Amino acid sequence: MAAELSGKVVIVTGGARGLGAAMGREIVEGGGKVLLTDVLEKEGAETAAALGDAARFHRHDVTSEEDWAAVFAYAVAEFGRVDGLVNNAGVGAGEMLESETVAHFRRVIDINLVGVFIGVHTAIPVLREYGGGSIVNISSAAGLMGLALTAGYGASKWGVRGLSKIAAVELAEGRIRVNSVHPGMTYTPMVEAVGVKPGEGGYPGAPMGRVGVPEEIASAVGFLLSDAAAYVTGAELAVDGGWTAGPTVRTLTGR
Ligand code: NAD
Repeated sequence: MAAELSGKVVIVTGGARGLGAAMGREIVEGGGKVLLTDVLEKEGAETAAALGDAARFHRHDVTSEEDWAAVFAYAVAEFGRVDGLVNNAGVGAGEMLESETVAHFRRVIDINLVGVFIGVHTAIPVLREYGGGSIVNISSAAGLMGLALTAGYGASKWGVRGLSKIAAVELAEGRIRVNSVHPGMTYTPMVEAVGVKPGEGGYPGAPMGRVGVPEEIASAVGFLLSDAAAYVTGAELAVDGGWTAGPTVRTLTGR
């Protein structure tokens, strides 16, 4: 069952596919309106069209300040207000530290962390104007532990977790809540690309033994966007099948 989001207008970055597309569905099913943004124009327009009149798409590179201003202006022009922002756009994958290049590290930080900063920065006056709101920043299990092969990615996701706390503290008086969500392995084009398989037994490293599905992340985001989370700010919500809770029995005993 979708979270109650009647009357709320939410911007979701990276909404063309994967987790962002599932968040768009969650918001519309909950009675809200959503502006999906992405660099993937064709896919984004198709994803929004499939959600009907409660959804729109706008091209958006999250590293561009001009794009951010245009996205907020478009949301207000189309839907009359903004109540929420989900900073979901991101790029994954990585190398061992030794082979990670400076150029790739910088690029990942620029999209995954600087992009979130510009989003929060741009959202503040707009959300205040409409009486406050909810910002959900998509970090990762890699922002809760030191995960091999994630040099730039893991650093960016730890940064998103920290930035979310700072924003929660600074913005609480303006009635803006800010929380981070930390997905574990979830079946989307991003993890498909690294060979992860869906279903039972597909991810033995996590206590639940499977990868998640996008709807399981979207429902946590829906909760944080909704008034059911009215007293929740500065929280970090792991949605990861127990991956960051600790090593599995199999890992500890070999059985
Ligand atoms: P995905 O690759 O399917 O979707 C990410 C979207 O972000 C894509 O549509 C992509 O075009 C968009 N994007 C990339 N760069 C952009 C930019 N500069 N400006 C605007 N949009 C841009 O991946 P996903 O699995 O749906 O990931 C969504 C978020 O969840 C990411 O922040 C990712 O790091 C995080 N996450 C995913 C998992 C997982 O297992 N899938 C786990 C932890 C965290």
